[in-house]
Amino acid sequence: MASALETTDVKGIAKYIKSGKCKKISLMLGAGVSTAAGIPDFRSPGTGLYANLARLNLPYPEAVFEINFFRNNPVPFYTLAHELYPGKFRPTLTHAFIRLLSEHSLLRMCFTQNIDTLERRAGVPADKIIEAHGSFATQRCIKCRTPFDDAKMKEMVLKFSEDKVVPRCEKKGCRGLVKPDIVFFGEALPPEFSQSPKIIQRETDLLIVIGTSLTVHPFASLALLCPDECPRALINIDLVGDFGSRDDDVVLLGKCDEVIEELCEELGWKEELMKLWEETARSTDAGAAAAASASESQEEEEEEAEEATTPTQEKSAAGKGASGGDEKKLEDEVAKLAEKIQKEMDLRRASVEPEENVPPPSSDNTPTVVAPSSKPSESKSEASSAVDSQIATRGEKEGTDTEKPAALSSK
Ligand SMILES: [Zn+2]
Repeated sequence: MASALETTDVKGIAKYIKSGKCKKISLMLGAGVSTAAGIPDFRSPGTGLYANLARLNLPYPEAVFEINFFRNNPVPFYTLAHELYPGKFRPTLTHAFIRLLSEHSLLRMCFTQNIDTLERRAGVPADKIIEAHGSFATQRCIKCRTPFDDAKMKEMVLKFSEDKVVPRCEKKGCRGLVKPDIVFFGEALPPEFSQSPKIIQRETDLLIVIGTSLTVHPFASLALLCPDECPRALINIDLVGDFGSRDDDVVLLGKCDEVIEELCEELGWKEELMKLWEETARSTDAGAAAAASASESQEEEEEEAEEATTPTQEKSAAGKGASGGDEKKLEDEVAKLAEKIQKEMDLRRASVEPEENVPPPSSDNTPTVVAPSSKPSESKSEASSAVDSQIATRGEKEGTDTEKPAALSSK
C-alpha cells in the first residue's frame, strides 16, 4: 500500500498539504488547545480545572458536569461558568490556524470537545464546527426545554460571583433550572454529532488531533474510525490513543501553539497565521472595548490592541482607555459595543442553530458523553466497542454515572 506521506514528521505533513492531494482536513480538538488562552485543562493534575474545583465541595470533580448533581446543586457549575464564560478569553494561535485552514478551503470539519466557543471567536465559520460537547452559546430550561435569553444569561453568569442567583425558567409556573447547552456526563450529544463518523470515514484526507487526552467517549472513538489510508497527525504533550500504531501516523509531541507555528513555517503560512491571530485580540469583550476607545486616536490603535492580547491584561487595557478622565463616556461605549457583539453573536448563531429539540438524555441510539475512565485498559475496550457499534449508546455506564451524584447529594 502506497503511503500518502513521504516522511512522518512536520515536513511530511506540510508536503502532503501542499501537494494538492490533501483537499479535506478534519480536526479533533481537546482542552489542550485552549490552555494557552488561560482556560484550565480539565485533567492536568494540580493546574487542571478539576483540581481547582476542590474548593466547591464537590463529592468528586466530575460531579460539576453531571446532570443529576446539577439538579440538586447548580451552584458549583455556575461558579465555574462564571470563570469560564466566553468573552473573557482570547483564541490561541492554534485557533487561528483552524481559520487559516478554512480560508485555504482545506477545512472539512473541526470537531471540538471544548465548550469555550473560541473556534467561533477566531472566525472559523459555524458550519465548519461541530461542538460535540455543546457550548455556552445557548441555554435552556432543564425541565421544559424553553430557551432562556442570551443577554440575560450573560449578565447573570457575570454577576454570579457576587449575588449567587442561578437563572431560572421564565415560562409561567415552571421555574426550572436554566443550563447552558453544554453536554453533561450522561446526556445526549448534539444531533449534528451523528454525521461525524461519515465525515471521518469518507470525507477526510488528513485527520489532525490536537490537545486531547482521547479519553472521553464517544468523541475519542472518532480517531479510530479514520481509515488506514488516511494519514493521522497527533499534536499533544503526550502520546495518546492508538497513535503510532499505523504507518501514516505522525506524532508531534509538544505544546499545540509551538507545533502549529512550526507547521505553518513549513507551509509558508507563518505570516498569514500571525495576521489572523492578531485579529483575535478584538474577539474578547475587553479587547473590543480597548480597540473601540483606541480608534478615537488612530495612532494608538495598534498599541492598544497589542495590550489586550492576554486575558490577564484585559483590565489594564480597558482601563487605559479611560485615562483621559471621561470614564462615563467609555462606559457608554463599552455598553454599546457589548450590545453590538451580542447582536453579532446572535446573528451567527441564528444561522447555525440546530433543531430546537435536543433529544432527551435517555433516548435510544443517541451517543452520550461518558466520563473519562481512570483505567487505560477500560477506556481502550470502551473505544473498540464504540467503534463496533458505530458510536452507540452507552447505557449501562450512563446509568451508573448519573445515579452516583444523586445518591451522594441526598445524604
Ligand atoms: Zn421551564
